[in-house]
Amino acid sequence: MQALVKATAAPGMEMREMPVPALGASDVLVAVETASVCGTDLHIYHWDEWAQARIKPPYIPGHEFCGTVAAIGELVQDVQVGDFVSAEMHVACGHCLQCRSGQAHVCQFVKILGVDADGAFADYVRIPATNIWKLSPAIPRDFGSLFDPFGNAVHTVLSGPIAGQTVAVTGCGPIGLFSIAVAKACGAAHIFAIEPNAQRRELARRMGARTLLDPASGDIEQQVKTATGGNGVDVLLEMSGHPSAIAQGFRLLRMGGRASLLGIPSRPVEIDLANAVIFKGATVHGINGRKMYETWFQAEALLRESAIDLAPVITHRLPLARFDEAMHLLESGEASKILLTVKR
Ligand code: NAD
Ligand code: ZN
Repeated sequence: MQALVKATAAPGMEMREMPVPALGASDVLVAVETASVCGTDLHIYHWDEWAQARIKPPYIPGHEFCGTVAAIGELVQDVQVGDFVSAEMHVACGHCLQCRSGQAHVCQFVKILGVDADGAFADYVRIPATNIWKLSPAIPRDFGSLFDPFGNAVHTVLSGPIAGQTVAVTGCGPIGLFSIAVAKACGAAHIFAIEPNAQRRELARRMGARTLLDPASGDIEQQVKTATGGNGVDVLLEMSGHPSAIAQGFRLLRMGGRASLLGIPSRPVEIDLANAVIFKGATVHGINGRKMYETWFQAEALLRESAIDLAPVITHRLPLARFDEAMHLLESGEASKILLTVKR
């Protein structure tokens, strides 16, 4: 099969002929149709410090995908050849304290397909049957590869009350944009989108944000305070990982509000804990991945019943072999979600 391979401990990736993965008794082989590019793939492509510490080449990256089941292992019962599927790529150990107490999304020994083992930038990907998610035909086929980042957004937004709440979203990359759509669909009262990139602010408007703010413009805090009756927002969804966005986000949060933090800072961040959290009586949620599989049920229901439209976030489609172009488009800030299509 053709696969995009992180071949060596150096920048770049390359298309190569690779063997089709061998199937274990509880595995599913999926013929990949679409794989989307995530910021993590860009770190791996550039071979930055994080990638150097985590990634063991040679291997196949890619963890956001959808495709058609091509074969199943002998013990697999709930999945059939021909099913259109995506998958949770965090493979939890099943044995640790968290796995055994309903918190598999923070498994101590999680292995991520596409990061720690072969992923989906290939003609075929092997997935444990437990991790397969069958996609409803009622959901546009194009959205199949987006369940992973969309699920991150769903997990973050629904980690506390949202209906009737005022919400600030700091960072309108794909996950911030999806969060706006989820918050809107779940009845958020007024969504403030805070994002330096003007193109992404415009996307935020299309996804349901009412007020668009550039973090560099001085009077953001005043504007948000005024629009929320002097209180600040009920909910902060931090979707950038940027230290100044985190600090600003907490300043926008009202006393007693909820901050759900998904963005990953690249290094330790200093925050004014006394004023940002303690005196405010704020509730802070760290968000990791997607709940297995509560988030998947919620994501599917939201796309099916609320008909959330993810299409504005899909800015580019390219064949897998044009991955270099995709990586450059993503880092330029010009692209939001890029779908890579696999043609066998
Ligand atoms: P992204 O990099 O596309 O989006 C981040 C956005 O933040 C960009 O649009 C950027 O312009 C904006 N930004 C930069 N500085 C800002 C500031 N001062 N104020 C407001 N916005 C600012 O990333 P993404 O794919 O949408 O992911 C969002 C974040 O979530 C990233 O940090 C990513 O690493 C992290 N992430 C976390 C998990 C998890 O499980 N916790 C999973 C996936 C991604
Ligand atoms: Zn575990």
